[in-house]
Amino acid sequence: MVKIKRLANLTDSICFVEPNIPSSELTQRNVDYPILSDKKMKTKYVKFAYRPTHFTWKGKTHEIQVNFCSNPFCKNHMKPQKKYGIGKSQRYSISGATKERNVICSTDPTDPNGIPTLKCNSKAYSNWSLATEIERLIRVNAVVPLDPAYEFHKDGCINHETYFTEPKTFYKRGKASSNAQIVQCKACKKYTNILRPKLKRPPIIRRGTIFCLFMQI
Ligand SMILES: [Zn+2]
Ligand SMILES: [Zn+2]
Repeated sequence: MVKIKRLANLTDSICFVEPNIPSSELTQRNVDYPILSDKKMKTKYVKFAYRPTHFTWKGKTHEIQVNFCSNPFCKNHMKPQKKYGIGKSQRYSISGATKERNVICSTDPTDPNGIPTLKCNSKAYSNWSLATEIERLIRVNAVVPLDPAYEFHKDGCINHETYFTEPKTFYKRGKASSNAQIVQCKACKKYTNILRPKLKRPPIIRRGTIFCLFMQI
């Protein structure tokens, strides 16, 4: 038997996203949004662009952190943000006059004669937004078991049992066109249609599959 399923919705926790933002920071952001200019907000919070977001799906946790150099010919390629310990120098800075921000490779002051960085411009993304988009794509393609909430009685019925807990307090009234079992409360006479699990179809064996089975004998 196969349980009847329905499309997943926002209330189903199929994929859990952890943005790794402490509650104190969220509170501070809410304070800052109305009082700081866009530029000051960027200056204060841009360092968090390199903070990974995690999402857990099917028992496995995945990390998303895409703000790094995307140029395979640069020595910074796919390397995480790093403070060089000389002044305020870091591996990357984020710049861009419009909403299109870029992660820009800085020169490495600890290795001036080594392999140069290529001053690459890699597009900056919100790790959190990417994780929530992945969560949405997983959810719109997912189904979950349908557990309908049945109302077996009219208001004020003396029978407080359900057909599943006390079937003898119900009449069976045949099947609906949808193949649902119709039951009726013996006390309040309310009819309820109970969805039945689908019969599991035997697997379809294709000609190629049988040939492969013979090959294994
Ligand atoms: Zn680079
Ligand atoms: Zn009843």
